[in-house]
Amino acid sequence: MEIVENLCDITIFGGHGDLAFRKLMPAFYHLCNDKYLNSESRIITVARQNMSRSEHIDLIKVKLQEFLTKKDFNELQFEQFSKKLHVVEIDFDDEKSYKNLQSLLEEYPDRERVNYLSTSPSFYGSICKSLSKFELITSQSRVVLEKPIGRDLKSSRKINVEVLKYFQESQIYRIDHYLGKDTVQNIMALRFSNRLFMPLWDSSNIDHVQITVSESVGVEGRWGYYDEYGAMRDMIQNHLMQLLCLVAMEPPCSLEADSVRDEKVKVLRSLRLMSPADIEQKTVRAQYSAGSSEGGPVPGYLEGEGMSESTTETFAALRVDIDNWRWNGVPFYLRSGKRMRGRNSEIVIQFKNVPHSIFANKGSCISENKLVISLQPKESIQLKLMNKIPGLSDQMRLQQVDLELNTPLQTTHKPDAYERLLLDVIRSNPTLFMRLDEVEAAWKWADVILEGWAENIVSMKSYSAGLDGPSAAMQLIARDGRSWHDE
Ligand code: NAD
Repeated sequence: MEIVENLCDITIFGGHGDLAFRKLMPAFYHLCNDKYLNSESRIITVARQNMSRSEHIDLIKVKLQEFLTKKDFNELQFEQFSKKLHVVEIDFDDEKSYKNLQSLLEEYPDRERVNYLSTSPSFYGSICKSLSKFELITSQSRVVLEKPIGRDLKSSRKINVEVLKYFQESQIYRIDHYLGKDTVQNIMALRFSNRLFMPLWDSSNIDHVQITVSESVGVEGRWGYYDEYGAMRDMIQNHLMQLLCLVAMEPPCSLEADSVRDEKVKVLRSLRLMSPADIEQKTVRAQYSAGSSEGGPVPGYLEGEGMSESTTETFAALRVDIDNWRWNGVPFYLRSGKRMRGRNSEIVIQFKNVPHSIFANKGSCISENKLVISLQPKESIQLKLMNKIPGLSDQMRLQQVDLELNTPLQTTHKPDAYERLLLDVIRSNPTLFMRLDEVEAAWKWADVILEGWAENIVSMKSYSAGLDGPSAAMQLIARDGRSWHDE
């Protein structure tokens, strides 16, 4: 069946950058193959250097072959896709160069327009201003902003205010690619379509929640970027906070964008702001030292390109408290780090134990039920339950078993998070994008911790590359009589 999606011109600013080559073009290629792009829609790359259309198409082909699996790249399909590809030369610092884009867009003045700003956020204001000056923003235009939007509340506000001079809030799509993952959306499906979880999802039944996003890689040649941000700004303030919101939010009254976002912002506003004593006891920041990763030796963070003076954390762990009725007394433990033992992103909801065990004297202990939502490397959902070990033993022996809640995908290709999110932008559906008040509430909470760290309220710890992070992170959770879920 032919799917007819909105007809639009999609312009990628920074279209010859890493994100555009690695994520955006492969996502558009798949959307095109799966007929999720209107056959007339165009993808316009904004490049800094002069390049003919055929040179650009050749370059995109090389990049797709690099970033798609062999099985996913197909010459015939690429030929179809290439018909959509256009390139224009623009230097953001030279306003006149926007004329090139104007000529192309004005061929179809009534088309919807998506502007994807895949550049440094320092250009967001000037790009929007130039688009406005050349009258390229219509009521049908949207703008997609990549993270990180600022490095604290003040700088984030400055960037947002600039963009808001030219676009309405409803036209702004602040992307957090974690929200495009199927399993992340499944958190809402699981919570709000299964009565089973409804009475269990609160402080009476949940002991605590853990959210981990660990990477085995280091900064991968992005020193300049990473050292300005670190784990708190790069991961926790946005990705982990969004995951926390989906776990903690109240049922929205519908799946409409603002209903969902209203509930998320309530969670963010309920985060307990940390006092200096809290920062000392409930936060850990650390940098990795030399160790080994993926079978080979790797240098420590401070041994990288001129980083010997850096005070940027490559790991952060925190105990977060949410001050509302549902979550009173239920800690959320968050941690994220680079150069960890493995690449692993998961949410663990740990339920309380049964009030009394009738099996305790029979040689069996009962492990708490856990709902484990894995996002990376594999997307899966497991419910860990206790079960009897089969057999005729006179003792009732128990074991923990996993109930797998995964639904196999009906299609051969599993869509990447960017495909879902790009399609939502094309369809004008902002549900999975962050609203301004969400971004600001998350910064307000994070700023307090970042300021405390800047004042050295808690010292920088160290951990060996390739292991599980600093011992202080184990102590953080052990102090509460709990441990990280590291299987
Ligand atoms: P990049 O440095 O690889 O690409 C930036 C692009 O902007 C390049 O094509 C460059 O030529 C262009 N550019 C820079 N100055 C310009 C100018 N004056 N005029 C015209 N073009 C200019 O960066 P990236 O890694 O692709 O990241 C883009 C954005 O996406 C950033 O905001 C980044 O934080 C965000 N992001 C990137 C990733 C990733 O995996 N790369 C992940 C999440 C978010």
